[in-house]
Amino acid sequence: MTNNDHKIALVTGANKGIGFEIARKLAQQGIEVLMGVRDPSKGASAKQKLAAENLPAKMIEIDVTNPMAIQAAMGKIKDTYRRLDILVNNAGILIDSETSILNLDKTIFLNTLETNTFGPLLLSQAAIPIMKAGAYGRIVNVASTLGSLNDMANPDSSYQSVTAGAYRLSKTILNGITILLANELRGTNILVNSACPGWVRTDLGGREAPLSPAEGADTPVWLATLPDDGPTGGFFRERQPIPW
Ligand code: NAP
Repeated sequence: MTNNDHKIALVTGANKGIGFEIARKLAQQGIEVLMGVRDPSKGASAKQKLAAENLPAKMIEIDVTNPMAIQAAMGKIKDTYRRLDILVNNAGILIDSETSILNLDKTIFLNTLETNTFGPLLLSQAAIPIMKAGAYGRIVNVASTLGSLNDMANPDSSYQSVTAGAYRLSKTILNGITILLANELRGTNILVNSACPGWVRTDLGGREAPLSPAEGADTPVWLATLPDDGPTGGFFRERQPIPW
């Protein structure tokens, strides 16, 4: 038996990319993983892949832009398991990679915020009462160095040429949410942190990226399984703190 036995984790956007690898690594630790997916047909094949490795996982339908779907999913989790120990807000979109901030369209900005920012906030708000009842919680917001204000303001940053204002700012606000939630939850054994997975070869990251999805999943999984005296309100890449 490990300490992780009987722990329940919800990972959003778990059907592919980094989210799938986060689900796999958590399941490898004996954690019961609920794979949050917006399309059940994609979720079913992802779940099958894990089952083929003897890693049982369940699928739960959640479109993170749909507050009703979030409430329904959390209600189901509460009724079925009576607990939720880990929430990994991984689902994300990048739909303005070629767009300068000078031309950023409000609809694209709002759509990006709906998925990358409001979704994680609503999911956290719904999960926290369940976590409080169990006196245990780990929330991981999968953010990005691209959302770091420190990095944006650094003229020598290798990301200076990256545009994607909607994506970058959605992750900046997500990081703010991490800090505010962590402040609110100090002393509750609910630890809230942001992770940058690094630049990862996925549909979002592209083929040129140096890291595999499994490598990208490492820091989020580490934060999802922190001990009780682990950090909260931090931003981490390669398991090390990085500037906001
Ligand atoms: P990905 O392969 O494109 O996967 C994104 C996942 O999010 C998919 O499962 C997708 O589902 C899901 N998703 C998108 N919109 C959703 C919604 N409204 N509701 C529920 N699920 C939704 O991307 P990835 O690279 O693994 O990205 C995972 C996270 O890492 C994102 O938050 C991303 O911003 C972050 N990140 C990635 C990189 C990188 O280099 N790849 C770097 C820094 C941060 P569908 O299959 O249904 O579309």
